[in-house]
Formats: sequence, C-alpha cells, structure tokens
Amino acid sequence: MHQEELFKQLVSHCKEYGFIYPSSEIYDGLGGIYDYGPMGAELKNNIREYWWKAMVQLHENIVGLDSAIFMHPKVWKASGHVDAFNDPLIDNKDSKKRYRADQLIENEIDRLEAKIEKEVEKARKRFDNFDEALFRSTNPRVLEWAKRIEDISRRLANALKTNDMTALKTLIDELEIADPESGSRNWTEVRQFNLMFSTQLSNIAGEEGKLYLRPETAQGIFVNFLNVLKTSRQKVPFGIAQVGKAFRNEIVARQFIFRMREFEQMEMQFFVRPGTEMEWYKYWKERRMAWHRAVIPEAKLRYKDHDNLAHYANAAVDIQFEFPFGFKELEGIHSRTDFDLGNHQALSGRKLQYFDPDLNEHYVPYVVETSVGLDRMFLAILSTGFAEETVPDAQGEDSTRVVLRIPPALAPIKCAVLPLVRNKEELVAKAREIFDRLKFHFMCQYDEKDAIGRRYRRQDAVGTPYCITIDFQTLKDDTVTIRERDSMLQERIPVSRVVDIVRQKTAMIQLLEQL
Ligand code: ATP
Repeated sequence: MHQEELFKQLVSHCKEYGFIYPSSEIYDGLGGIYDYGPMGAELKNNIREYWWKAMVQLHENIVGLDSAIFMHPKVWKASGHVDAFNDPLIDNKDSKKRYRADQLIENEIDRLEAKIEKEVEKARKRFDNFDEALFRSTNPRVLEWAKRIEDISRRLANALKTNDMTALKTLIDELEIADPESGSRNWTEVRQFNLMFSTQLSNIAGEEGKLYLRPETAQGIFVNFLNVLKTSRQKVPFGIAQVGKAFRNEIVARQFIFRMREFEQMEMQFFVRPGTEMEWYKYWKERRMAWHRAVIPEAKLRYKDHDNLAHYANAAVDIQFEFPFGFKELEGIHSRTDFDLGNHQALSGRKLQYFDPDLNEHYVPYVVETSVGLDRMFLAILSTGFAEETVPDAQGEDSTRVVLRIPPALAPIKCAVLPLVRNKEELVAKAREIFDRLKFHFMCQYDEKDAIGRRYRRQDAVGTPYCITIDFQTLKDDTVTIRERDSMLQERIPVSRVVDIVRQKTAMIQLLEQL
C-alpha cells in the first residue's frame, strides 16, 4: 500500500477504534491538539511504563521526578527560551496561510533530493551492472542538483545561526518558492515567532506575573538538581528522569500527532563530570537505540547527526524513525555541557554544584540529555504495526483483516475473553468467571457480541495478542482455545494455564530483558 494511503488509513483507524480523537471535535476540533481514547490511553500508558522501567528501574543511578508545568518565569530567561525559542514565520498575503520559512526552504531541498533519486532510479533501470556511486559522482544533472542542495543548505544554516530573517526571505525569493496550497509568491517579510504559550498569574500584574506553559520538561529537572542530589544520595554520574506534558505554539502543526501544540515528553538528564561527557554521550546514544530496537525493526531507525549544533551543545544526534512521511526525528540525544545549570546558577545566585570526593573539588556537572516524544513514539509503534492483510482460506468479509502487530507488552488489551455464542447461559457464565479471574492480572476485554470471526477481527484491529474462546468442550473438560494474533493459530489449553501463558508472553519483562 502507498505510504500516504496507509497513513490516511491509520489516522481513521485511530479514531474508529478509540486510539486518538481530534480535540473538542464537536466544535470542529482544535489544530494540533488531540485526545487519546480508551485504547490510546492504554497504549500510551504502556509506552510510558516501558520507558520509565528501562530508565529508572533498570538504572540504579537514575531517579524519577514529577515537576510542575508552571515554573518561575526566570527559569525560561535562564534557559534561553524567552529570547531564543523562536521559529521564523512567514505569511502569504494572498492565501493568508502561515508557514515556517525554514520549512519552505527545506521542502525545496527535499524536492531537489527527490529529483536526484528519480534520476538514479531511471538510470538503474536503463543500465545493466549499474554503478550507482559512479553515476552520482559524474552525471551532470545530478551534480548540478547536489551542488544546489549544498548551497541552499549552507545559506539556510547560516541564516538560522545568525538569526538573519532577511537572508531567509532572500532565499525564498531567489528560489521562487510558492505557497504550497495556492501557488502564490506574494509573501510578507520573515519574522521571529516565540513558541512559548503564556498566561498570567492572578495576583501579580504585568511582566512579573507572566507565566509560561513549559515548552520542555528538562528545566524542571535542572532547577531540582540540588534537591534531588541532597535527598536521593546519588553521586555524579547520575540521572533524573521525568515524563510530562510540554506545550509549543507550533506555527504549522501537521502530520497528525507528529507535531502537536500540546504533547508529552520523556526526558532524562544525566549529570557527569566535565570532560567525561563524550563517553556518556556515546553510551546513551547506544542505550537509547537499543530501547527503540526492542520494539521497532532496525531498518526503520537511523541516527542523524545535527549539522548545526545549538549554542549550548557540543554534540547532538537524533534517532530518526521512518514515519509514513519519511525519516524524521523521534528522539534527541544532546550533550548540553554546563549550559543549563551554569545559567540557572548565574541568574538565581544559588550554587548548583557538586562536590566530587574523588577529585576533592566542586564543579557544575555537565549534562547529557535523552529526550523522546511519547506521542511520536506512539505514532512510530502504530505505523510499524499497522497492516492490512489477506487471510488465507477465509472468504467474503473475513478474507482480509486489519491487524496491529504491536509488541504484546505494549498492547492495550492483553487478552480477550469470548464465549463462542451468547445465547447459552452456561457458556456466558463460564466466560464471565474466567474474565473475572484474569482481570486481576492484566487488561482483558469481555466480548460476546457478533459472530466469533468478527470478534477476532475487532481484537486484531486493536492489537490484542491473545483471544480465549469458551466453547462447549470447555464445559466438559475445562479447556479453552487460545488464539494468537499474528499467526491466528489456535491451541487448546486448560483454563488453569491461561494466566501464566498470557502473563509470560505479554509482560514488560519481555522487552526489558532485551536491553
Ligand atoms: P523538531 O525539530 O521535530 O521540532 P525538536 O528538535 O524541536 O523537534 P526537541 O526540542 O529535541 O525537539 O524535543 C525532544 C522530543 O520531543 C523530540 O524528539 C520529539 O519526539 C518531541 N517533540 C518535540 N516537539 C514536538 C511536537 N510539537 N509534537 C510532538 N512531539 C514533539
């Protein structure tokens, strides 16, 4: 299936099966904001738990935190967000549509890259023994486009680095970039737009009382560095992890839950001795990739080094996932030096230092950060697992199925309990009895409506790894059939073994032991 088509189907599937709804839908929704339905809430909880256990439970030297969304306004001054958390904005005067200037230019780069790939594919079909490297390095058209890409990328990076909005506008004009929707080239100037949402405290008027909704969870960790250090008996190197909401007034919120205005981050700041940060950066880069690989096929993941380092970082890499709309950032791993603690120390006047007993000296620790979006991870898991397939030996309506092949430990429902028919009292009673026992161990769903085949399909569509069917033989010998989602194979097992089998196959430990 074409990726674009697949993505559309996935979005409607999410709504139909209670994973994700547009926010305030009865009022026609709110751009870039989404609600998680019953299945979505479970899946999100499970991904969150997988992250938390992998980071906090498996590492003796990482502790958790749950800091507030609102923080003192000076936090955002020290972190640089008040002055520099901006995106370049441009309006089209005819269509009245608003865009990010850098993204319009990046689209142009993508267009040129696509042209190169098309040319390579054409040549591959034309020549036997095709030498791709030779073709790329000698074909005049490919070389010309590659040079343009290099030139545009360099100018874009420079303009962003120096905050030169005029240079961005010049690039847009020179490249004759048109509004993707209307085709108009009637643009305004480019201007900076701060992405933080703000609100006002009730008891303090003016700037002093201006509060921001946090645009990242990391700052809650930095300002609690001393508290945690004093109360957790940790020694450098150690980490603080937290999961929570973050808010960004994204100029263009697109691609479903990939870019939202309210989203959730899972962040960990690891405090290290200055000079050792590169070792730890390398360590976390590998550890975090292992975490992703346990739930996503390797071919869909890759590292992408940052071409332009943020002013506070001395190394940065993204873990990208191949979303249906291409490889994009899923997680960022950044070596942030002492930028944050140093700035908070300067602005607050409090010493944010660690006494290192081995060196017999105080220092401001350096920080290696891992930051992954929970919603992006959700989308990555769903788009990896979502499949429409034909069912061998089935006919009519049953000949195809939509199945979510997601890791059993992340599945919203671990086990469905299904009486073969609903009009036999003994079957229903037995199924209810089994359900009432299983529900203490994991998320189960009882379902007696419709033919058994349709009930299996319903469970496939939400990724339930096991279905237990109670039939007439159950009443005779206390056995049930257990059906596995991916293979659709059924086996007869004693009722007494159901808990152990399902628990063992769907437990979080299945993932954690791979790390
Ligand atoms: P992007 O370049 O895609 O805007 P970023 O580099 O600004 O992302 P970070 O500030 O490094 O992102 O945030 C860490 C993680 O938080 C990202 O890797 C991503 O998974 C998630 N994230 C950031 N912005 C959003 C958003 N608007 N919606 C959903 N998730 C987001």
